[in-house]
Amino acid sequence: MRIALALTAIVASLTLPLAAQNAPAWDAKFRALPDAKNIGDYMKRMSARPHHLGSPYDKDNAEWILSKFREWGWDARIENFDVLFPTPKERVVEMVAPTAFRLKLEEPPVAVDPTSGQKTEQLPSYNAYSVDGDVTGPIVYVNYGRPQDYDDLERRGVSVRGAVVIARYGNSWRGIKPKVAAEHGAIGCLIYSDPMDDGYYVDDSFPDGPTRTSSGVQRGSVMDMPTYPGDPLTPGVGSTPDAKRLDLKDVTTLTRIPVLPISYADAQPLLAALRGPVVPDPWRGALPITYHFGPGPARVHMKLAFNWNRVPIYNVIARMQGSTYPDEWVIRGNHHDAWVNGAGDPGSGMSVVLEEARALGELARQGWRPKRTLIYAAWDGEEQGLLGSTEWVEAHEQELRDHAVAYVNSDGTGRGFFNPSGSHALENLVNGAARDVEDPETKGSVWTRAKAREIARGSREERSEARSRSDLRIAALGSGSDYSSFLQHSGVPSLNLGFSGLDNNDGIYHSIYDDFFYYTKFLDTDFAYGRALAQVAGTTMIRLADADLLPFEFTNLADTVQTYVKDLETLLKTQQDDVRERNRQIDEGVFAAINDPKRPLQAPKTERVAPALNFAPLENAAELLTQAAARYHRAVDAARPKLASGSAAVRAANAKLLQAERQLTDEGGLPKRPWYRHLLYAPGFYTGYAVKTMPGVREAIEQKLYAEAETEIARVAKALEREAALLDSVSSSLQP
Ligand SMILES: [Zn+2]
Repeated sequence: MRIALALTAIVASLTLPLAAQNAPAWDAKFRALPDAKNIGDYMKRMSARPHHLGSPYDKDNAEWILSKFREWGWDARIENFDVLFPTPKERVVEMVAPTAFRLKLEEPPVAVDPTSGQKTEQLPSYNAYSVDGDVTGPIVYVNYGRPQDYDDLERRGVSVRGAVVIARYGNSWRGIKPKVAAEHGAIGCLIYSDPMDDGYYVDDSFPDGPTRTSSGVQRGSVMDMPTYPGDPLTPGVGSTPDAKRLDLKDVTTLTRIPVLPISYADAQPLLAALRGPVVPDPWRGALPITYHFGPGPARVHMKLAFNWNRVPIYNVIARMQGSTYPDEWVIRGNHHDAWVNGAGDPGSGMSVVLEEARALGELARQGWRPKRTLIYAAWDGEEQGLLGSTEWVEAHEQELRDHAVAYVNSDGTGRGFFNPSGSHALENLVNGAARDVEDPETKGSVWTRAKAREIARGSREERSEARSRSDLRIAALGSGSDYSSFLQHSGVPSLNLGFSGLDNNDGIYHSIYDDFFYYTKFLDTDFAYGRALAQVAGTTMIRLADADLLPFEFTNLADTVQTYVKDLETLLKTQQDDVRERNRQIDEGVFAAINDPKRPLQAPKTERVAPALNFAPLENAAELLTQAAARYHRAVDAARPKLASGSAAVRAANAKLLQAERQLTDEGGLPKRPWYRHLLYAPGFYTGYAVKTMPGVREAIEQKLYAEAETEIARVAKALEREAALLDSVSSSLQP
């Protein structure tokens, strides 16, 4: 049946060359459909009550989303999984010396904010996947709790062994803070929001302004996502009811020590009671106290216990069948679960994705059919560790390898500048869509405004590139939202799309105040940028669905790869120069001569200078890819007028192109974390969300594992060679 249909399609389209079929009419028609008012209505509905994973309103929202998709003509269903989700049973933190003081651990309702008082349905403030624990020890202040902060502590002779550390939020992903603390022997970890990074130092505090109040707390997951995200009990496989599960004691992604987030009102008395040396300037926050390192004399008792329950995931999956290439899937998603009411995170993005789905349904009623199959997804359990999307990807892995063309993600979005990131084979496509969407405030295109910002704030080199390069560069993806499994586990080229940059909106992140009242007072108050996001993301989706030859541009990828190789060479060189200089200063007695005996610093130890590494395989492979990408670009230009929609030649080319991003992955995964298979993009093992490009090589250099760096150089080079070979085979097949 399918073969007969396909043959008919080929015959029917033989006379229509691709150039003549590029009907921009449909995506232009689409851009007139999204309506800002609808976006606001969806947000209001979804954020009306707290709706974290496992809560009644989380399920209610999923069922409502399902009914909307169906109403708009999509073939939609809910897909369930079963995941481990700890919730607090007991949270006690008290200072036991020099005075006794019990932390409140509460976010109070704000009178003008109608949903902030929905106490019975709110999850208390906590960090999900902290272990249970009952510990008492002296406190040590560790700044942001990054590895380099512990180097500073060591030079001052301050140890965290047996201590409870207090770290401030910011400058690394929260899950890194307890991870590094435990590696240094700490027994507990508190994370607080300092007003310097997230409070009155930045802007007026809520409800007068947008920043965090003294009692505001940032909830969040501390699962070790850089090792693997998703259900901790089922790494690598979908957590269906009958899946084989790990014992809790064998899970490697829980923290090793108890950890809890607190407000700065709760943190201030603890910090004020610390003595020991005064911290240096980069360690100081904006509280009205003098910051000391400790340890002690303040001591703290911390007792945490959780309900280690399994709860259902409600992923809503909607399909619109493709007419010409139904087995090629273009996927779009956003999560629907929140920590509390979640108007900004995730409601702002989820509402946009829904409005796109409505508009695409409307377009279908007007006679459009996507050539490829569209899948729109609303994920559950993102906040705990990308649970819904990861389990879905793991459960459908083989299908995704065979069918997935691309995944386009959104999450919380705001006002300002279009801010795309993702796979560089999609860089040209997303630039094109951004050129065709009007910025609501400046009335130029969102692309022009993004370019102007690049020029205004870029370095000399970035400015010159923004002016001369035809496409704006997009950032690479680390982690922190639902694209991670698609891109980094399954090699599906991915984008993350949103607007940001004009509002100080961190103040309500993962608190009870991230709600409709706040969003419509301080963020994209009239949803004009939500509408613009629906336009640009929907345009991207339609072009991915309808371009006969998959709209990947590999010259952008090759160009980016060249910059990554140079970055690695610079990284090694800088590391060598720094160590050489420090060794020299140690030999010259510089550290001893400048030391203040009243505040002594230990001199650093001399280190071996990093050896030269052979980057030649990587340089050669990058060059090979650059040439193959240029040949492919020319071959497509030459062939395009003769290629018929749905023809065997187009299908054969697409079957290969569909596997292009997969060439950049390796079954063996990254060192120490085999779940992550992409060799160009991964979240940092010690930075969390922030991306590491060519992560195997980069992290080996950073961690001074030079033999591993050489092995990883060879693996990345091989991946680039595979990519070049695939492009060459498509180029030759396109020749007449
Ligand atoms: Zn989110």
